[in-house]
Amino acid sequence: MKGCGEVSKRDFYDVLGISKGATNDEIKKSYRKLAMKYHPDKNPNNNEAEAKFKEISEAYEILSSPEKRQKYDQFGHAGVSGNGAGGFGGFGGASGGFEDVFGDIFDMFGGGGFSSRRQSGPRKGADIKYEVPIDFEEAVFGTDKTIEFYKYENCSTCKGTGVKPGKSKKTCSTCKGSGEIRYIQNTILGQIVNTKTCTHCHGEGQIIDHPCMTCRGTGKEKNLKKIKIKIPAGVDNGSVIPIRGEGELGEKGGPRGDLYIVLSVRKHKVFTRDGLDILCEMPITFAQATLGDELEVPTLEGKVKYKIKEGTQSQTVFRLRGKGVVDPKGYGKGDQYVKVVVEIPKKLSEEQKNLLRQFASSCDKEVHEKRKGFFDKVKDAFSV
Ligand SMILES: [Zn+2]
Ligand SMILES: [Zn+2]
Repeated sequence: MKGCGEVSKRDFYDVLGISKGATNDEIKKSYRKLAMKYHPDKNPNNNEAEAKFKEISEAYEILSSPEKRQKYDQFGHAGVSGNGAGGFGGFGGASGGFEDVFGDIFDMFGGGGFSSRRQSGPRKGADIKYEVPIDFEEAVFGTDKTIEFYKYENCSTCKGTGVKPGKSKKTCSTCKGSGEIRYIQNTILGQIVNTKTCTHCHGEGQIIDHPCMTCRGTGKEKNLKKIKIKIPAGVDNGSVIPIRGEGELGEKGGPRGDLYIVLSVRKHKVFTRDGLDILCEMPITFAQATLGDELEVPTLEGKVKYKIKEGTQSQTVFRLRGKGVVDPKGYGKGDQYVKVVVEIPKKLSEEQKNLLRQFASSCDKEVHEKRKGFFDKVKDAFSV
């Protein structure tokens, strides 16, 4: 409900190419297929693919969460807008099923699934996924965090070459430095010449006779790395903060991979979140509900006063405008919804019970009339 731009939005089921009755598995499968196809890493500088990828991610975010899906089915886009749909950094706050799908994508993009099989050219390093737990309030108001994690750097002794200082690499005698071996394969169509990666030098074309002692010839060293990250206000559970160039080392001069900070928001004692909205329940007494009262309602910014009127029913929900979470993308702020729950007293003194009995008998006549009305309705319903 953040402006009229939402009207032309495509149906989420159409976006994922699935039917309204699709199972969670079907949703996930379709999402994975499409996400792979349109992922920005596979379509560099392609705005259309990027838009498509966002659309898919948004649809998945909603449909993969049973709660959000139900809202969407009931109210359409209006039922789920304003919860940061579209996602933070493209992945959004999809909490249900986020991990496993995300993990698969990482395997594909970070694990070298798309890199060429021939290991000759420079290759981008693997992406690192790092989960950072934060408090509910930190997600709402934003915070700065310093995170520590182990990361491979070029070995400081050999500067990443893997060779003992003062020594050098030797050309591989098996492949003569080409990194591959040609061989003849007999097939039903005759003989074909094939090549395979040299097993002696593993395609490097060079052999290290004197490996560096520090890194045992790998050229890499594991170091504890500290980086400061800024967590913007309004992020949600599962939000992803991409940090370019902080992933693993590239191969052969290729760029470093990226670091993806995945936020995991701790539960709050009182509040829960639904996108940008804050939800809470508030117990009130039978007397408050009946007579009306001015309540002191807790919000994230302190207590506010709210008047409930005479005869407020249990489970009534009221809204505190603008008491929700700031949209990290700058589209305003959510609201707080408070559900009042009338508590039935469990232990009353004899005096209180007597007062209540008096009260009950004074109501008897009224209630009797109401009940009559109710049974008449039931009778009517069955006589149709
Ligand atoms: Zn070394
Ligand atoms: Zn070789």
